[in-house]
Amino acid sequence: MDKDQLIKAVAEAGVVGAGGAGFPAAVKLNSSPEVIIVNGAECEPLLKVDQQLALENASELAKALNVIVTALGAKEGVFAVKEKYTQAVKAIKSEISHLKNLRVKTLGNYYPMGDEQVLVFEVLGRIVPEGGLPLACGALVINVESLLNISRAIHLKEPVIDKYLTVTGSVAKPATFKVPVGISISEVLEAAGGPTTKSPVVINGGPMMGKLEEDLTTPITKTTKGLIVLDRMHPRSEAKKRSLTSMLKIARTACCHCMYCTDLCPRYLLGHRLYPDRVMRLASYGHTGDPPDQAGQVFLCCECGLCEQACVMGLQPWRLNHELKGRLGPKVANALVKLTPDEVNRFRELRRYPIPRLVQKLGLAQYEDLKAPLTVTSFSPKRVRLMLKQHLGAPAVPIVKPGQKVKRGDKVASPPEGALGAHVHTSLTGKVEEVQTTSITVIAK
Ligand code: SF4
Ligand code: SF4
Repeated sequence: MDKDQLIKAVAEAGVVGAGGAGFPAAVKLNSSPEVIIVNGAECEPLLKVDQQLALENASELAKALNVIVTALGAKEGVFAVKEKYTQAVKAIKSEISHLKNLRVKTLGNYYPMGDEQVLVFEVLGRIVPEGGLPLACGALVINVESLLNISRAIHLKEPVIDKYLTVTGSVAKPATFKVPVGISISEVLEAAGGPTTKSPVVINGGPMMGKLEEDLTTPITKTTKGLIVLDRMHPRSEAKKRSLTSMLKIARTACCHCMYCTDLCPRYLLGHRLYPDRVMRLASYGHTGDPPDQAGQVFLCCECGLCEQACVMGLQPWRLNHELKGRLGPKVANALVKLTPDEVNRFRELRRYPIPRLVQKLGLAQYEDLKAPLTVTSFSPKRVRLMLKQHLGAPAVPIVKPGQKVKRGDKVASPPEGALGAHVHTSLTGKVEEVQTTSITVIAK
C-alpha cells in the first residue's frame, strides 16, 4: 500500500485521534516523519483502554505500524508503552521480533507521559519547539486505538463507528467496552451495572482532563475515552464544579506565589517559557509582570492540570490559561515568538510526577486497582446521536435527509470542501430521524 492509498483509506473511514482532541488521522499521515511513535502511555489514572488494546491486538497493531512506516518512508516505528503494562509490552515485543524497523520503548509511570511533547522527549530525547507539533522534530505520534482504527480502515475498509472506553469508579461492574458511537452515556453506565453511590456525577474522560457531564443523554463520540463515576461530594467532583470566578477570588488571597505549579509543569520542565505562577499574578495584581508580548505563553499550556495538583492551595492555574486562550485568540497565539530550548530543565527527571502519588492526591486510591476488563457486550440502541463535530476542524456537513434509510457503516456527513475535518458514519442500521445543526439522529428500524 502506498502513501496515497493509505491516506485515502484512512480519510474515507473518518479516523481521528482517539485519545485526545480528535485530529483527523489522514491529515496527520500526509507528512514525511522520520519516526512514528505509537502512544501507549495512557497516563490518565483509572483509564484502561490502550493497555488492553495493545495486549489483545498486538499482532494487528504491529502489522499496521509496519504498513505506515513503509508507506511514509519513515526510518522506524516505536511502540511507547509504560513498563508497568508488562503483558502488553511482552505481546508487542514478540510480534515485532522479526521486524527490524519497529521497536518498543518502555516508559516510566509518570503524569502526563501521554502528552505528545513529553512523549517525544522520553522516546527520542528531542525537544518539540514551544507551541509546535512533534513533526517539527521528525516525529509523528499516533494513539494505540487510532492505530487500530487505521488498521481496520486499510485492511477491512471499516469506518469508525465503535469506540472503546473505560467505565469505572463508583459503578457496579467496572469494565472497558466497545460501544457504538452515538449511544448515550446513560446506556453505557447501565451496561456497567449503574452507579453505586447515592449522588453520582460522571466525568467524561480521565480524572485529570475530563469534564463533568451533567447531561447523561450526551452521546459517546470518537474521542470519548472513559466515564468515571464519583460521588457529587468527592473532592475531584468539587474541584471540577468550582467556577473560574470563585477560583480566582480565592487565588487573590491564597496564592502565595510559591512557584510550585511552575516547578512541576511538564512543559516548563521541557524548557518552554510557560510559568503558571506568573499567570496567576493576574488574579492578584491584574498583570503577569511579564512584557506584554509574553501574554501568549498561555498557549504553551496543554491543560494537563498538573499545576492544580502541585498547588498547596488547590488553585487551578490551568483554568486561567484556558480562559485566556479564548480571550486572547489566535492573533496573540500566532504573534508569540516560539523558541526551541537547547536543553530541558536540569531538575526535570527528579520532578516528574509519579502516578501513585497523583492517585493518592486525587483521592482515587480506592478505584486504582479496579481491573475494568475488556468486556464483550452487545449494545442494541434504539437510537444513536451522531455529532457532526467529533474532531478538530470544521463540523461535518450532513449528506442524508430525515426519513432516509441507512445501514451501519454508511457515511452520513462529510467535511466541507477543503476544510480540516472527518467523515461521520452511522453506527446503527435504521432511518434518519432528525438532522440538526450539530448532530444527526438515527433510529433503529
Ligand atoms: S502553586 Fe498555587 S500558590 Fe503557588 S504560585 Fe502556583 S497557584 Fe500560587
Ligand atoms: S496545565 Fe498546568 S501543569 Fe499542565 S502544562 Fe498547563 S500550566 Fe503546565
